[in-house]
Amino acid sequence: MKKAKAEILNQCRRLRREADDVAMRIGKFAELSMREERSSTLAKEILTRHGFAIEREFPLVPNAFIASRGTGRPVIGLLAEYDALPDCGPKAKGPGHGCGHNLLGTASIFAAIAAAETAEAQKLRGTVRLFGCPAEETLVGKVYMARDGAFEGLDAVLAWHPSGVTRVNNGSGTALDSYAFEFFGKTAHAAGDPHSGRSALDAVEIMNVAVNFLREHMPPSCRVHYIISDGANAPNVVPAYARSWYFVRGEDRKAVDDLAKRVKNCARAAALASETRLKMRHLTACYDRPANDALAEAMNENLKAVGPPRFSKADREFVQRLGLEGKFKSKLQDISTERGAGSSDEGNVSWFAPLIGLNTTCAADGTRGHSYIKAAQSRSPIGLKGMRVAAKVLALTAYDLLTDRKLRAKAKREFRRRTKDTEYDPVIPAGQPAPIGDLIPKP
Ligand SMILES: [Zn+2]
Ligand SMILES: [Zn+2]
Repeated sequence: MKKAKAEILNQCRRLRREADDVAMRIGKFAELSMREERSSTLAKEILTRHGFAIEREFPLVPNAFIASRGTGRPVIGLLAEYDALPDCGPKAKGPGHGCGHNLLGTASIFAAIAAAETAEAQKLRGTVRLFGCPAEETLVGKVYMARDGAFEGLDAVLAWHPSGVTRVNNGSGTALDSYAFEFFGKTAHAAGDPHSGRSALDAVEIMNVAVNFLREHMPPSCRVHYIISDGANAPNVVPAYARSWYFVRGEDRKAVDDLAKRVKNCARAAALASETRLKMRHLTACYDRPANDALAEAMNENLKAVGPPRFSKADREFVQRLGLEGKFKSKLQDISTERGAGSSDEGNVSWFAPLIGLNTTCAADGTRGHSYIKAAQSRSPIGLKGMRVAAKVLALTAYDLLTDRKLRAKAKREFRRRTKDTEYDPVIPAGQPAPIGDLIPKP
């Protein structure tokens, strides 16, 4: 076993230059959610070059794919993401990898390659399956992939995320619904005959007021946020069309279902009051994530063996030029069981098979998430160092799962216990294409 693990680490070292190059290229592509054509094409090219077959693509989820290598059970999955964020490019202009998904996707891809390569060399049975997951930032990709059956038949699944700390992440986030509310009114001259018009923007505002009153009477762990994504163009025209975009969050799917019903009532009331027509679009539905202690402990052993990333004087100077102090959290932390306030579409995958993830330090202290400061580090040796640690830990854990029947059984027992009372409902109707931002593209 020890020898096999040493071989995996050697594989990772051999792949290092290629992995660094891919991370930098996806970093440069900086493609927004649902527009990751070049990033996903590059990912598929690399995987194909390393013996993976592109097993499936998803007509309703652009830039999503499944690549696999090996045969039969067990089937071990790894999740890759590669979408960028707006306003995270250099000097906060244009798209950039402000969440570090150029590192995320790359480490998962190369971990899958290293694990599959070693398994094949040892003639092991089993399949390594890499999931190319677009549009994490809009919380869409894995929700629609799950609806279309992507995550069936897995024995375990591994994930990670670039961070400011290095630790195994056995925590959870919130469940979430995302809606676009469109209102259709009647235009008129705003000064000449406003009485002939019916304002769609009024409807948006009435709905927001109603939801803001609702806040007092919703469970304290719930959150609602919105923007007005189309508030019309000129004050002297009664707006015939306006649109808002809402996120509703809660501890679990049931909490979100309950609160979403009440938010939708606010929308209906606003349409009634403003004499406009309402169209609701349910854009995405994320789940919270059950913990898996068995996998967390197994991954933590591998993390301890690999050790945290180490940063140099040049790294400290680099972040000082970005206005930061120049400190990094480079000690290993204990397994996290935190319940964060944010949401991830990773949650949806975790209801299909035991899932565990890790964080590695890819940014200095004081780096805000979703910022150009984080994006700059994601395309620097700092991010690459964190990425290499993640790739090694993922590859080692994938190998454990391929070879250790007892670990798989233990993880599965725990998974069954934690998920037995929840029936996974994809929520989003079959056949609905994945949305771009708050819009659903025509199929
Ligand atoms: Zn992210
Ligand atoms: Zn993000």
